[in-house]
Amino acid sequence: MSDVRNVIIIGGGPAGYTAALYSARANLNPLVIEGFNWGGQLMITSDVENYPGYADGVMGPVMMQDFRRQAERFGAEFLTDDVTRVDFSERPFRVYVGDDEYRAESIIVATGASARQLGLESELRLQGRGVSYCATCDASFFRDKVVTVVGGGDSALEEATFISRFASKVYLVHRREEFRASPIMVDRGRSADNVEFVLNKVVEEVVGDGKVTAVRVRDTVTDEVSELETDGFFVAIGHDPNTALFLDWLDHEADTGYLVTKGKTTETNIPGVFAAGDVQDHVYRQAVTAAGSGCAAALDSERFLSDLRHKALTAT
Ligand code: NAP
Repeated sequence: MSDVRNVIIIGGGPAGYTAALYSARANLNPLVIEGFNWGGQLMITSDVENYPGYADGVMGPVMMQDFRRQAERFGAEFLTDDVTRVDFSERPFRVYVGDDEYRAESIIVATGASARQLGLESELRLQGRGVSYCATCDASFFRDKVVTVVGGGDSALEEATFISRFASKVYLVHRREEFRASPIMVDRGRSADNVEFVLNKVVEEVVGDGKVTAVRVRDTVTDEVSELETDGFFVAIGHDPNTALFLDWLDHEADTGYLVTKGKTTETNIPGVFAAGDVQDHVYRQAVTAAGSGCAAALDSERFLSDLRHKALTAT
């Protein structure tokens, strides 16, 4: 059986590493179980130009290495593996990586969310080379260029409208004629002169050798295949929070699976278990907001641990 740690942080993205930095500087010797594919969503972006402090921009993976190194500098420990099970029935809480058990008085869940992907081989190959999952991050790279957005929800409509301020032309490809998006968002998309709706079409392939040059689509009614010449391809078909491990323990939104935190805190329904970053935020979803939330979780957990210590002292 392992020693009991002060805090275990599950997840290695902006929220998890920021929580690790603050916990390490508070002498709490955090263990970060960062996931086999650590770094989170920024590992599939290229330049990040909207993270304060990087005046010249930074590559997403480089930024995550910087985050990680900063936490390491103050003594955070990392385990580059995936958590397979948790048991939050009592304190110390238990976290498992295969057969290995780790125990801690407090837990910070920062497993993030994953942008849904179409699942095309060409989409994976061209990630960061014209294929993007974040208009806020990447729209400005397509100034005066042609961009295709896929999806029919609020995200897709919002992204198409946002990108239309930069790009010369935006194709919005949706697989049906009706939109899941709210009418006001559809109206906004329609009223932008340079947004063209391409309906009843599914994307079959992202075309390009080294960078995106076109998108091949198939008409769902006629089966006809055609190509849209494009420089950028934004996939906006939703996000899924990485919460499967926690659904039996932590309160979450029934329809989406996002964890629920209390008011302005990062507290979950279990005292001592905190949630930070995109795993509990489907509204802002930015690296900087996730980092802020990771900081809040570290402060919340630090306060929780010091209350525990205080209670233990006054009980003796
Ligand atoms: P969403 O509502 O789940 O919509 C996903 C869209 O992607 C749907 O139109 C869906 O098509 C399409 N899609 C899914 N899988 C696909 C595939 N494999 N190939 C092609 N198309 C696919 O997701 P979202 O737009 O990200 O919105 C998530 C939540 O955030 C919603 O509650 C939304 O209202 C909210 N949101 C709000 C705002 C705002 O108010 N400003 C902005 C963004 C998001 P089908 O319709 O055919 O299923």
